[in-house]
Amino acid sequence: MLLELRNLSKVYTSQGKRTVRAVDDVSLLIQEGATFGLVGESGSGKSTLARMIPRLIEPTAGDILFRGQSLLKYSEKQMRAARQEIQIVFQNPYSSLNPRMTVRQLIGEPLQIHHKASGASLDQQVLAMMEMVGLKPEHANRFPHEFSGGQRQRIGIARALILHPRLLILDEPTSALDVSVQAQVLNLLIDLQQRLGLTYLLITHDLGVVHYLCDYAALLYMGTVVEQGPTAQIFGASRHPYTQALLTDVPSIDPDQNMVERVSLESDIFSIPWTGIGCRFAPRCPAQQVGACTKAEPRLVPIAQDHLVACHLIHPHLVTADAS
Ligand code: ADP
Ligand code: MG
Repeated sequence: MLLELRNLSKVYTSQGKRTVRAVDDVSLLIQEGATFGLVGESGSGKSTLARMIPRLIEPTAGDILFRGQSLLKYSEKQMRAARQEIQIVFQNPYSSLNPRMTVRQLIGEPLQIHHKASGASLDQQVLAMMEMVGLKPEHANRFPHEFSGGQRQRIGIARALILHPRLLILDEPTSALDVSVQAQVLNLLIDLQQRLGLTYLLITHDLGVVHYLCDYAALLYMGTVVEQGPTAQIFGASRHPYTQALLTDVPSIDPDQNMVERVSLESDIFSIPWTGIGCRFAPRCPAQQVGACTKAEPRLVPIAQDHLVACHLIHPHLVTADAS
């Protein structure tokens, strides 16, 4: 197993503001060479989860095992080495690249910071990486603003790959791009994975992206995984009402507002009322609910090989025990 998250949580507490359980008891396994999709609406905790893996954000609880070793026990020095193997490609290629640096400098910087190369060797590695991601040699001395969004994301990908990581965390890599260039970048990612033997944790709010690229997917709702399994199972035999709503895009009823609300991947879910007791999806759930839905937090339970769902409705035998 390349990466294992064990009961990982992050609680944000800022003075004068409500505390946010941005990531709440998430456990995941990611195999070497896999493409693991993490799907969720805006605010569901995806970026927080992503940033905790290389410890850019410190977890509140839980553990992160990379090749069986707990990253939380690593020293600063060990962590610096581990971060070379775990790279993140950020969502917005417009704000994540220093506008005063050339493409050559941007892609070469990680090699310099880690004292991996200099001079002609550095230049050679940068040019080889540029070719790998589909940038031309004459682009080397240009600045980010001279490029389109898709090309900027190629620069971001090259920067993330220059240290030869094993795990690439892609945080909504195409969501800031025009639809027409999204597919080009996704195809580049497929190509790079095959050539370099990479493992991907691909974060997205687009189930189409998951269907196209991922072997396995987990659906995050308000910081917790509500369903996870092989992509074929998620698309062909999903059992959680949230997943089903996303897949069919059916309207759901919001009982608090007594109106029809679309379960949209674009909404701000922490604005949706949840008392902190019971299933956090209950206020939006379009399914016929049972007593347990508002009384106990459903646990993630296997329903088939590798396929887990957290919903009282499909585990009626657990409802009585949980609700009592
Ligand atoms: P996503 O990437 O899925 O949109 P985030 O991880 O960015 O979700 O955010 C999850 C929740 O945590 C949101 O409610 C967000 O407002 C909150 N949050 C994110 N970063 C911070 C922070 N630094 N301080 C306080 N709250 C935060
Ligand atoms: Mg995010």
